[in-house]
Amino acid sequence: MPEYDESQDTLIRQSTIGQMQLCPGRVKWVDHPDYLGMLSEPLVFGTVVHEIISRHLIEGELQETMLLSMDEWVEAILVDQYDWTLTKVPLVRDFFSEIAVAYRTWMQNVLPTLDLNKVAIVEERQLMYLGPGHLGKIFLHGTADIVFTDLLMDWKTSGRAWKQAKADFSIQASLYMPLHKQTLDLSIQDFWFWVLNRSQGVWQLFKTKRTVAQINSALATALEYGRQIEANAFPCTPVPEAAFNKQRGWYCKPKFCSAWNVCDSKYMNDGFNEKEVAERIVAHNKNKSVLSVSCELY
Ligand code: SF4
Repeated sequence: MPEYDESQDTLIRQSTIGQMQLCPGRVKWVDHPDYLGMLSEPLVFGTVVHEIISRHLIEGELQETMLLSMDEWVEAILVDQYDWTLTKVPLVRDFFSEIAVAYRTWMQNVLPTLDLNKVAIVEERQLMYLGPGHLGKIFLHGTADIVFTDLLMDWKTSGRAWKQAKADFSIQASLYMPLHKQTLDLSIQDFWFWVLNRSQGVWQLFKTKRTVAQINSALATALEYGRQIEANAFPCTPVPEAAFNKQRGWYCKPKFCSAWNVCDSKYMNDGFNEKEVAERIVAHNKNKSVLSVSCELY
């Protein structure tokens, strides 16, 4: 594989592709000084649940100490990854209690189904060469939650039940298969998503497969998005292509787009007062926990 050269090559993640498929502007504005990068409770919850599960898998035992010291390591994650503190998380005891329940139900219902003799890696970042860009090379990078010799697996947390289509259309599944073929020489065509449905407190399994043709088309898509990033080409798309009636996409709302207050491509004649909402977001963020903003404002 060609060497990655930070000075001229471009990295792309599957999550960036997901954002660009909605609206490339969501990636364009990330480095703007006033970009909010809204923190949400579901995002933090997912990160924390991932952390305790991956620690369990790496150390091979119950993480009793983590359960008893959440205020320390959850705080560290908030500060390191989100520049935030625990004091600003509303209902922190409920938050901790749901994390503990998520972990215990994972141990009861998911862990016994795993064939740990086949584990290749846990939470290891991998880098794959996708192809040439116009200036440098384009690379995909990603970190699967756990890789078995014949299967990829990911933990997800969701406020609602997943539908099978979400797994079947996941570009993450399509890209992580060739990623681990190139880096670990594993030929894998199965991806399982274990999804914690938070509304019911249960882990649900969604299995999906990919054909070689599907994988190839996902790789071509990733390369094209990588070239767009390299070229700094981010045409905003507040309206989904299919919306011939020019209706704003669900994602082009302050609740779902962190670039709302800096983006100048969102204005539409749909009775939505974009400026007024942007001002309210900025005012709220100055004074309050961002975790509570989305619940209160929208
Ligand atoms: S506000 Fe709308 S148009 Fe602007 S980046 Fe966000 S989704 Fe795209």
